[in-house]
Amino acid sequence: MKKLEQYQCEVCGTIYNNRTAADLCEKNHKTVIGIVGTRHQPRGVNMKGYPLSIDVKMSDGTIITYKRG
Ligand SMILES: [Zn+2]
Repeated sequence: MKKLEQYQCEVCGTIYNNRTAADLCEKNHKTVIGIVGTRHQPRGVNMKGYPLSIDVKMSDGTIITYKRG
């Protein structure tokens, strides 16, 4: 019987057969530091009040805009 080892990326959950691939996967992910901006519409346009888009600062310093679908 052969014992098998697997490694799982703790960010996306993908399982790899070697540690290097899992490590590279984890290091490639950019994680969210926080919301740095929001865009809202007037009450007459958006009665629910949720933001139309948000600007998010990522772990590498990039600001990414996410828009509501
Ligand atoms: Zn991953």
